[in-house]
Amino acid sequence: MSILIDGKTTSEKIKSRIAAEVAHLIDNEDKAPHLVAVLVGQDPASEFYVKSKEKACQSVGIISSLYKYSEKITEADLLQVIDFLNNDPDVDGFIVQLPLPSHINVDHVINRISPAKDVDGFHPMNIGKMVLGAETYLPATPAGILMLLEEYKIETEGKNVVVLGRSNIVGTPISILLSRKANPGNATVTLCHSKSANLEEITSKADILIAAIGQPEFVKAHMVKPNAVVIDVGIHRIEDKTNPKGYRITGDVDFAEVSKVASHITPVPGGVGLMTIAALLENTLKAAKKTVYR
Ligand code: NDP
Repeated sequence: MSILIDGKTTSEKIKSRIAAEVAHLIDNEDKAPHLVAVLVGQDPASEFYVKSKEKACQSVGIISSLYKYSEKITEADLLQVIDFLNNDPDVDGFIVQLPLPSHINVDHVINRISPAKDVDGFHPMNIGKMVLGAETYLPATPAGILMLLEEYKIETEGKNVVVLGRSNIVGTPISILLSRKANPGNATVTLCHSKSANLEEITSKADILIAAIGQPEFVKAHMVKPNAVVIDVGIHRIEDKTNPKGYRITGDVDFAEVSKVASHITPVPGGVGLMTIAALLENTLKAAKKTVYR
């Protein structure tokens, strides 16, 4: 049976440190960090994530505000909201919760956010800094994964890492971060996607397997090298009549099977998701302290 990589305990530890730093900042500057979340539409998953982020902010002393708009908001109006937040000295950082309605171009929105306030780390300037290894806001989910690897002292140097999924917010940045000349890093990384051939042959050579493909329980035991470390980013609500709620939450990894062969594994829920929120708080603190952009 695998060792559980516990995102709950690890994120609580990180949040305690952040809370202490926030208290120190308030003592020195008489102002708490302020994070704004912009939510468009009524997607239940997005509403849930935004609520979790607000709760997490409150728990560490960060002020959080929610700007909520109808799904009918035009792109031009949303860009105006972003301009307003970019120029509001009271706001240290903000996020625009994704996905956005299909009539809004996500790139236009992300590109409009001031890099200094882009605490999601999605702006091309911040992605570029990440690639170059400069101080920046790391995208929250990859940053959360790095924190877990550090906390559990999982060696990445010289290891074969396989990342499943090449999205701009998870797969691509974590593959770049783990191949950088850094610690964690110095790994040999293979990035797979829906056009990759012989997937099972590739995954079964991974010392560390990171699944971020958005396919429930896709990774099975036979795809995993014995004693590999498995990081499950996926999050899905699937029907389960045996559960009193009628559903259960699962990841991209078949936990029941894979936990029998992996050395370490992240659970869903209780793994990467909580770390994503902790990393967002960390970025907000950085924004308030102006350590990335002065
Ligand atoms: P995207 O849908 O943006 O990207 C999915 C990626 O997986 C794409 O690169 C796609 O390939 C690839 N892919 C899809 N199917 C296969 C397959 N059968 N074999 C190989 N590759 C495949 O997903 P995200 O990165 O945004 O999210 C991934 C998962 O992580 C989702 O379940 C999401 O809910 C979850 N998530 C969790 C977070 C957390 O905090 N825990 C944060 C963000 C996401 P191609 O590029 O060729 O289409």
